[in-house]
Amino acid sequence: MTGFMADASVVSWGRVHREAHRVARPAFSDELPGLIEEARRLGQPLLPVGLGRSYGDTGLNGGGGLIDLSRLDRLIAFDATTGIVVAEAGVSLARLLAFAIPRGWYLPVVPGTRFVTLGGAVANDVHGKNHHGAGSIGNWVEEIELLRTDGQRHVLRKGSGGLFDATVGGLGLTGIMTRIALRLRRIGSTSLAARTIRFGSLPEFFALSHEHEARHEYTVSWIDCLAGGRSLGRGYFSAADHVDTGELDAGGGPRLGFPADLPEIALNPLSIGAFNSLVYALHPSGAGRVAADRFLFPLDSIRGWNRLYGRRGMYQYQCVVPPAAAEDAVAALLRETSRARQGSFLAVLKTFGALPSPGLLSFPREGTTLALDFPNRGEATLAVLDRLDAIVREAGGRLYPAKDGRMSKQMFLAGYPGLGAFSGHLDPGLSSSFWRRVMA
Ligand SMILES: Cc1cc2nc3c(=O)[nH]c(=O)nc-3n(C[C@H](O)[C@H](O)[C@H](O)COP(=O)(O)OP(=O)(O)OC[C@H]3O[C@@H](n4cnc5c(N)ncnc54)[C@H](O)[C@@H]3O)c2cc1C
Repeated sequence: MTGFMADASVVSWGRVHREAHRVARPAFSDELPGLIEEARRLGQPLLPVGLGRSYGDTGLNGGGGLIDLSRLDRLIAFDATTGIVVAEAGVSLARLLAFAIPRGWYLPVVPGTRFVTLGGAVANDVHGKNHHGAGSIGNWVEEIELLRTDGQRHVLRKGSGGLFDATVGGLGLTGIMTRIALRLRRIGSTSLAARTIRFGSLPEFFALSHEHEARHEYTVSWIDCLAGGRSLGRGYFSAADHVDTGELDAGGGPRLGFPADLPEIALNPLSIGAFNSLVYALHPSGAGRVAADRFLFPLDSIRGWNRLYGRRGMYQYQCVVPPAAAEDAVAALLRETSRARQGSFLAVLKTFGALPSPGLLSFPREGTTLALDFPNRGEATLAVLDRLDAIVREAGGRLYPAKDGRMSKQMFLAGYPGLGAFSGHLDPGLSSSFWRRVMA
């Protein structure tokens, strides 16, 4: 009997990458040694995966095996004095929030969707809208139980260095995380006091970030990436904080579904440019209350929104550039995107704080991060992304593997100086399409 099923086309979140795999979906962690043994007998590399929310190929292992951990989703223990929760690594952040919120706790760091697993979040050392104060999720992990393909189980503690630092942000390549202990934070309410301020240029964005980040927990900006000339860098800045008392509401599931691929004709520079101008016009500066899930996970209310980009899918491009180079580099990236008329509506700009990530391969570092969506138009899109790479590299920045499906080996090596130390902790039975591509 085999634990793996052939799947001819596993698709990444950006829907550009489709690869054949053998996939296993264990319900109990004691099935893992048998699956590892089966893959070893077949001579196939394995990759542990979660809910498949990585845009490119970090969650793919074409021609090899995937172990989908999303059924290993049990909560194991919670200490209400320290706020430390222990859970199986396949638990979703949505489920953790549904447990924590009624008890007056919240996740310390959340990405822009709660439909990711805890293991996936740690393997990419995800960041959120509070990075300037809280750092990345790896800063909040107390302990990881890791199963290597040699059958050894390791319990890795925060501060122990070595394999712990390689596993946080380690892209699933150091072993299978089976349990994780995470420190939660207290909240009085899931209601946020939020304010939005429109800005007309990049210098205004940097001034607003500087002024508000010391005072507000969450900040994020949306940028009109098609606006050029005097409107270059226009957008709106949002800041929000949990209010002290009020509702503790875990929020609901998706409110709308996106049932079909949108025809590509709908996504042309004119329609996107008009949409961006409209959004900019409709967001006057102002303040008010907003539910945490609306502010932190705006796209979660539309199920399957990635189909908006049609059958050819999309690339997301997320970089971070160091503080000294940030203003010039972000201006150059936006100029290039606007000139190429290829970018799309969802451009997000945010400054990262100085708290270092523990992970040897973690993406977040002090500086400014820009995330841009590009509908896949083949070579024309790849050519624009190569030009953006040159700007990021020149500025001493790096790209986010969780979003990437095309960066070169040179770009990866230039951005990740911890790679040498990381490589010593690789599990030889694991691999991914991303890893084979960037290390070839
Ligand atoms: C709408 C949206 C918004 C997002 N916003 C943000 C954001 O604000 N900040 C941010 O940092 N990221 C963001 N992301 C990216 C997302 O948080 C990461 O890609 C995350 O890792 C996805 O988790 P997953 O469970 O889907 O894992 P998958 O995509 O399935 O896998 C991701 C990686 O984790 C590894 N992995 C998964 N489970 C395990 C395990 N148990 N043991 C070892 N390795 C494992 C896999 O091998 C792979 O390398 C966003 C993604 C989407 C779709």
